Amino acid sequence: MATGIGIDVGGTKILGVRLIDGEVDHVSKCNTPSTGGPGAVIEAIVETAQQLLVPEATAIGIGAPGPVVPGSGQMGPATNLTGWDRPIDIAGPLGSELGLPVVVENDTNAAAAAEHRTGAGQGSTDMLALWLGTGVGGGLVLDGQLRRGKGLAGEIGHVVVQPGGRRCGCGGVGHLEAYAGRAAIEREARRRHDSGEKTLLVELAGTRRMKSSLFVEALERGDEIAGELLGEAVGAVGAAVADIELVLDLDRVVLGGGVANRLGPYFVDGIRRTAGRGFGHIDLEVVLAELGDHAGAVGAAVLALDTARGA
Ligand SMILES: [Zn+2]
Repeated sequence: MATGIGIDVGGTKILGVRLIDGEVDHVSKCNTPSTGGPGAVIEAIVETAQQLLVPEATAIGIGAPGPVVPGSGQMGPATNLTGWDRPIDIAGPLGSELGLPVVVENDTNAAAAAEHRTGAGQGSTDMLALWLGTGVGGGLVLDGQLRRGKGLAGEIGHVVVQPGGRRCGCGGVGHLEAYAGRAAIEREARRRHDSGEKTLLVELAGTRRMKSSLFVEALERGDEIAGELLGEAVGAVGAAVADIELVLDLDRVVLGGGVANRLGPYFVDGIRRTAGRGFGHIDLEVVLAELGDHAGAVGAAVLALDTARGA
């Protein structure tokens, strides 16, 4: 029996799970404090962990937004957490407060590890998990092991798919995220709407955030701009996957995140088509993720248990 706690720290919510032998036994969540800086967020993490702690638990994993230097125990900088503008050691203070070893992992890597161990990636040896949400993230499993590198492995959102193309949220140019991230698609739709190319996307969203469900509605109603923007998104993801496939000869791509949840089959088919056009014989499975919102927390627990076992 292995019992661990995993906590996924997101920009809007903190979600924790108690994991017993790979199964989610209990879930606890709260809103991420938007005032009070890192201190308030750390306090909320402690409270979430305390609600899940049982005497059998042997490790706590934190899924952290933003890059994490492996083994550092540090989280940040994280643009979606107020005031978290630098790396801060959280493994130390959380460990002494909670009395268990604490491991910090990048959230998208943790989610990839979870899908590989207990979700849509089971049985795969070389796998890419691709998260299409507000931004675009990824995680890489090679020879059955999560590939961390120095902390950047799997960051597929910022590979260049269009030299000289659209500006990315990170400041770079032509990155995948600038074509396939929900926020970037929204920015582009609003820009084109403002310049006179009317689109249902903006008419339906008004001033509110353009949700992924709205992409589906506009597509179904035959909106031209929605068709173009989402066609570009699929093409960009397919091109990036095809390049990575050629370098790494993966056997599976797992697709998850808010945009993929709503538009899954559309992306799966598009990626199969684009990636299949590349060089050589490509034998690549493209499947949808299975763990939903719990993936980051489950993966953080799985990886923390690995570390505690010395695996
Ligand atoms: Zn970028």
